[in-house]
Amino acid sequence: MSKSKLELQLYNTMSKQKELFKPKEEGKVGLYVCGVTSYDLSHIGHARAYVAFDVLYRQLKYLGYEVNYVRNFTDVDDKIIRRASELKEDPIALSGRFCEEFLHDMADLNCLLPTHQPRVSDHVEQIKEMITKIIKNGCAYTLDGDVYFSVDNFPNYGRLSGRKLEDNRAGERVAVDSRKKNPADFALWKAAKPGEPSWDSPWGSGRPGWHIECSAMSAQYLTHTFDIHGGGMDLIFPHHENEIAQSCAACPESNISFWLHNGFVTANDEKMSKSLGNFFTIREVTKLYHPLALRYFLLGTHYRSPVNYSISMIETASNAVFKLYQTLQDCRDALALLPDIKEASNGKTKVSPVAKECINKLHNEFETKLSDDLHTPTILNSALQEALSYINTCVSQLKKKMQKQQQLVFVLSLTELEEEVRRVLDVLGLLSSSTYSEVLQQLKDNALRRAGLTEEDILKTIEEREQARKNKDYARSDQIRSDLEAKGIALMDVGKETVWRPCVPEQPAPPVEQEQSATSVKKQQPADTLPVQQSTVPVQQETPAPQVHLEQTTVEQQQPSDPVQKEKPSLPCALEQPAVEQQQPSDPVQKEKPSSPLASEQPAEQVQQEQSAVQQQKSPKSAQKDQPVSLVEKLMNLNLEQLSATPPEQAGGESADKEQGKTPRST
Ligand SMILES: [Zn+2]
Repeated sequence: MSKSKLELQLYNTMSKQKELFKPKEEGKVGLYVCGVTSYDLSHIGHARAYVAFDVLYRQLKYLGYEVNYVRNFTDVDDKIIRRASELKEDPIALSGRFCEEFLHDMADLNCLLPTHQPRVSDHVEQIKEMITKIIKNGCAYTLDGDVYFSVDNFPNYGRLSGRKLEDNRAGERVAVDSRKKNPADFALWKAAKPGEPSWDSPWGSGRPGWHIECSAMSAQYLTHTFDIHGGGMDLIFPHHENEIAQSCAACPESNISFWLHNGFVTANDEKMSKSLGNFFTIREVTKLYHPLALRYFLLGTHYRSPVNYSISMIETASNAVFKLYQTLQDCRDALALLPDIKEASNGKTKVSPVAKECINKLHNEFETKLSDDLHTPTILNSALQEALSYINTCVSQLKKKMQKQQQLVFVLSLTELEEEVRRVLDVLGLLSSSTYSEVLQQLKDNALRRAGLTEEDILKTIEEREQARKNKDYARSDQIRSDLEAKGIALMDVGKETVWRPCVPEQPAPPVEQEQSATSVKKQQPADTLPVQQSTVPVQQETPAPQVHLEQTTVEQQQPSDPVQKEKPSLPCALEQPAVEQQQPSDPVQKEKPSSPLASEQPAEQVQQEQSAVQQQKSPKSAQKDQPVSLVEKLMNLNLEQLSATPPEQAGGESADKEQGKTPRST
């Protein structure tokens, strides 16, 4: 099947169902995503949104489309002005500084640069032109230097969100301006106040309102009709509703085919908020975890579902990334030992049928799942894990003595497997520009930082353990090993050598009461929560069990419920409730926990410990004294037992994005 024939299905908030994507112009896609209001460092809610749309961007490119991807920067806004005044800085300059910080985060997260990144301050002329058209078309009015959009003069207002005009509670959070004709009318232009950035206009000196910039800038770079508009769910109302109203009022033929919205981020099943102490900037997370671990974690949840951030989940994701890169490194190492074998072949040898099946499965699953409304979790948890397992098998086989012909089959199989895995990782944005070994080193450095240890500390501890074993003091050597595992460092005996790698910190066996409480938490899990497969490998303390190849976990066998089945299309404007609340898909992702990562050289005991860490998700040792890191402490102190609880209710709307931990408000 050629890529161009692949059908891409996307969930359209406007129709409230999945639809077959068809570009307006053959082979080309116009994509607009609301960007950040840049007055502070971006948080993981931002990471969520832009990673999701980066995958869409990559997938569209993979399908062969020429994509014009526009993501704006809001550099003129109340919050920016307030922050700049606090810091006694020029608002545009402050905003520019945080735009740079944002781009730094995006590069870390392996997000591709959009085609255009327009800023409000550079597009005031286009904004003024659009406001002029809206006034001319009778949908806006001026009031003492302000310009308001008149919702009463725009009959289709509420189509996207399903809100009725009388449901709007514009005055609930902000004092109603009694001068407005309808409380739901919103500002297109705000009259200048002293000390604020302002521009001359036909209505007096002032600056653009909250929503008009996206209408003006999308029209500028993508024209009035384009294919996909994206943003966080909290932007459906009022931001995107207002965008539609403005664009259509200025240009009646305005039309956007697809409206895509990503779900929220919660932390430990609570709304992220600074006051709860569970609010995380991207920078805070990437100080301790590899950015690819954060990306992997985010892709482990379908983009429309709520995603719950917790230390347990990011640790698991980090471990999965380590396993991924270790497997690829092992593959490269194995191939490097046989550099000339392919030249020596007669060209007739083919990859093994098992390898071929594995490659085909990965390829097909990747294409079909990603084309099914970007279903990333299934790819990560199923075919990719199988491919990695099979790479490990081939690597182990190649270490055995065999005939050249057999070797060649394994070499060809590994080469093709690696190629396919890289292709998948590339579209998911999980392929680093660094080498495999550099990524592994970065992951190890992060693990050391989290553990508050240095490489030297660990080498010293390995020596200590060696000495204890020589003295037959196995209790001591076990203790040394489990102490390190509690800090996320696993020791592995490979032949006569002991090496280390990061692992999910082992959690201590809880006393009986806690055990009960853990059980009761488990019982509260939804019935279809995925069980993580128990290892059947017996625990053999201090005895390395090399080449452990667990079969795929049961993750793949349990298909997530399709969010769409619960999302019956409903007539626009006929909804009593805000659409935001009605569109909550069932969370496919909480059922798709990453499978337990296993390196081929892993000792059996560690396998069990890691799996149980994922499965039980009990509270880790709280506030370990030797963990100096504030984020870890912060996370450790949170109640991790709630991890599998029902997702929190999703608040709709217009409250401050910072407090909600949602996608950035954008204007
Ligand atoms: Zn916007």
